[in-house]
Amino acid sequence: MADSSPRTTAGIGRNDTDHRQPDRKLAASKRRRHAMTATRALHARSLSDPEGFWAEQARRIDWETPFETVLDDSRAPFTRWFVGGRTNLCHNAVDRHLAARADQPALIYVSTETGQHRTYSYAELHDEVNRMAAILQQLGVVKGDRVLIYMPMIPEAAFAMLACARIGAIHSVVFGGFASVSLAARIDDAQPRVIVSADAGSRGGKVVPYKPLLDEAVNLAAHKPERVLLVDRQLAPMALTAGRDQDYAAWRERVGAARVPCVWLESSEPSYVLYTSGTTGKPKGVQRDTGGYAVALAASMDYIFCGKAGDTMFSSSDIGWVVGHSYIVYGPLLAGMATLMYEGTPVRPDGGILWQLVEQYRVNIMFSAPTAIRVLKKQDPAWLTRYDLSSLRLLFLAGEPLDEPTADWIQQGIGKPVVDNYWQTETGWPIIAIQRGIDPLPAKLGSPGVPVYGYDLKIVDEATGAECPPGQKGVVAIDGPLPPGCMSTVWGDDDRFVKTYWTGVPGRRCYSTFDWGVQDEDGYIFILGRTDDVINVAGHRLGTREIEESISSHAAVAEVAVVGVHDALKGQVAMAFAIVRDAGRIATQADRIALEGEVLKTVDRQLGAVARPARVFFVNALPKTRSGKLLRRAMQAVAEGRDPGDLTTIEDPTALAQLQEAMQG
Ligand code: AMP
Repeated sequence: MADSSPRTTAGIGRNDTDHRQPDRKLAASKRRRHAMTATRALHARSLSDPEGFWAEQARRIDWETPFETVLDDSRAPFTRWFVGGRTNLCHNAVDRHLAARADQPALIYVSTETGQHRTYSYAELHDEVNRMAAILQQLGVVKGDRVLIYMPMIPEAAFAMLACARIGAIHSVVFGGFASVSLAARIDDAQPRVIVSADAGSRGGKVVPYKPLLDEAVNLAAHKPERVLLVDRQLAPMALTAGRDQDYAAWRERVGAARVPCVWLESSEPSYVLYTSGTTGKPKGVQRDTGGYAVALAASMDYIFCGKAGDTMFSSSDIGWVVGHSYIVYGPLLAGMATLMYEGTPVRPDGGILWQLVEQYRVNIMFSAPTAIRVLKKQDPAWLTRYDLSSLRLLFLAGEPLDEPTADWIQQGIGKPVVDNYWQTETGWPIIAIQRGIDPLPAKLGSPGVPVYGYDLKIVDEATGAECPPGQKGVVAIDGPLPPGCMSTVWGDDDRFVKTYWTGVPGRRCYSTFDWGVQDEDGYIFILGRTDDVINVAGHRLGTREIEESISSHAAVAEVAVVGVHDALKGQVAMAFAIVRDAGRIATQADRIALEGEVLKTVDRQLGAVARPARVFFVNALPKTRSGKLLRRAMQAVAEGRDPGDLTTIEDPTALAQLQEAMQG
């Protein structure tokens, strides 16, 4: 178990990253060599003796039936962890804590959109989750059924997730910012028996009705859910479909103080499916197991997040993303902590709201995204020091590259260590981090840290699969088996799991993260962007193909290419270059503006505002190779004002100049 004594030494603090003072630098280097030992030792042990290491970690949770085998990789890459063990995520996140902390806060809910706030103790959370579980059961949900959750950030969303876990149903949460076409694709793939939703969400004071989007999605989808359970927040009127649509409040009354026993699942049985974007237009359902996920999260709460029972964690993400699953709902609750669930933006009612919440709820650990901090940078820096932040120990940032000025600004501003960490929807918990629960390894600005225990991470040559020496850029890959908690397959498509993730690097059977990276002499990894067509807008992962498909559905568009372009605030934004069918549609500047507006509305309506490109430019040709492949990297370079590099394969060299002209015009 972690030695907590060094946590209070100079390893945690702003001086970690001070490059200016040579004596400090020397001291930091000595500390680093010393400190590397504990992190490296644990990492090495987790790889040399995975069975022993993970069997110890498995003691962090309750098992109804003990597992017989820690690791079964006989059908690699379909790895199974804790084979034969039976457990339940909801039991471990909620029921298990009733004996010691029934009256302690479990879920703190704050909405600056509606002004509502409420704290649920573990006993109250247990009551609500039981009620929701009873409702789902009475609506016909049984073990193995899918329940799609399309919800704003309200407590009922967490109740629904935990209730599914309780009865062995597989939840699939779809981010509320997605619209009908995205939602319909997920409904068809997950085939839910029941959908749980609400009348509306609210963002920045603007009500976003969910019900019409949901109705349109169900119309578009081939699969029809039997029931739709609706929470009426009274934010927007709802038209109910008789028989199908059910009112949550009425059902909650009806089931009263119901008690629903936990359904014990074999460790490898699925807990949830979470869709994420890839290189094709069809999103992938990341399937997660039960036992491995519970163990991995429980270990990460200690080793990486330094969270203890009774602490309060505030992750300012959304339940629709993996951070919401792992570090709003399951992680903190598995650790017996209180989790703060926040509906609102970082700047409303003012730029101090996040820190006000830290003071008010005595938050100990915070998790956010670099974009949120860049948004705060535009606010008065006085907000950073207005509130009492003495309870706060660490600020974790993830989801996109953390640039040095942003890391420096927030670290200096709040006087707390900032911990960058790198991972993906697929892994469910950090791959690279400074693991402060193990030892106070100093951070290096620009790097999320070193490989986390359990991950046999390698930087490999994209052409040969050979390991790259320090300093040489390669693909960030993981030699199997993946540790517990990582995706077990693509929902309903084992072949796609193998083809997508395990065959991408020639000459090596390894999991590809689809990120470029480089390792330095000290073993720190630096992430250098995606190897595929996925872009990262404000920490949200989007597939350019999905956006292209949506834009192409506009009748005036003949062809389109979408690329991610650097943006000072959001990290990246999507930029679209489209060819129209009839040049007459864009004869004047006013025509172009009007058509651009129409195209953007199409994306809004189909995919949601989250996927809306920053601009749509109209061109006569797109840069392609002679074999017809889009030169996306060259397009991206031109859009960012960089040299497009080697263009020997380009078919029409004027196409790039056209992009430039269109952007300048
Ligand atoms: P998602 O699956 O939406 O969490 O997105 C995962 C992707 O976000 C990764 O593959 C990276 O491209 C990027 N990412 C996540 N965390 C970091 C980080 N700390 N630094 C750089 N890129 C990151």
